[in-house]
Amino acid sequence: MNKPVTVNCPTCQTSIQWGDAFPERPFCSERCKQIDFGDWATERFSIAGEPCLDPSKLGEEE
Ligand SMILES: [Zn+2]
Repeated sequence: MNKPVTVNCPTCQTSIQWGDAFPERPFCSERCKQIDFGDWATERFSIAGEPCLDPSKLGEEE
């Protein structure tokens, strides 16, 4: 009477069944797992290098 549990792959939103058929769960595949880790690194890098420029504040100093 086990109802199959389905989850969505965090990378591509594909619905997969939680079980031995998908050893990389919650990812649908090894590739999606790698992509997710890559996004993480990229995101962190872009936040660190984000310039603090706010155009609406330019010219308001006087
Ligand atoms: Zn996927």
